[in-house]
Amino acid sequence: MSGFDLKLIEENYARMSDAELERIATTDSQGLRPEVYQIIENEIKKRNLSPNLASGVKAQNKEYTIEELETYSKLLRELSCLVCGNHREQLNGTASHTVKSFVFVTSYRTKITIACESCLDKKNNDAIRSTALLGWWGIPWGVLKTPVYIYRNVQAKKENKLKKPNNALLSFTLGNIGEIETYKDDKEKLKQIISRNF
Ligand SMILES: [Zn+2]
Repeated sequence: MSGFDLKLIEENYARMSDAELERIATTDSQGLRPEVYQIIENEIKKRNLSPNLASGVKAQNKEYTIEELETYSKLLRELSCLVCGNHREQLNGTASHTVKSFVFVTSYRTKITIACESCLDKKNNDAIRSTALLGWWGIPWGVLKTPVYIYRNVQAKKENKLKKPNNALLSFTLGNIGEIETYKDDKEKLKQIISRNF
């Protein structure tokens, strides 16, 4: 990357609002070159923003062992369930899979939710019910995909029961690692991360 390119990148970051810089730093900094990382770090310092933002950028450019992800996931597990308010049990994740069809148009959706066990089960049950009602009416994909998606929900429900962080939670943790690292001491921000996905 030439000095000229770096200059342009630097100007681009300098033009961003604080909120925009915060969003890019926490959610959109994967695969950054070290020179660009340096530019963002300088910009954060220049504006007197929290140094945790720079750790968030770094966190998106690291590789993790399962154990490290489990440690991060604990920050989310300890929150109270934002669906039902339950704060007695540790939260976990589920992937709910839905198919909706209308004749020749079939749409599929897979979504991760972080909540307590019974709210996770409810999420999968809702997905099974709406897929069973609305999935079949598409040719050919609705007919072919509906049983597959229902089966995936049934499988996901088995993972909801696990007492340790399950795959859905770990993959959500990895997908949001920049924000989790940045806001690790801020429960309200962590709640916002999981509530975006309801
Ligand atoms: Zn709940």
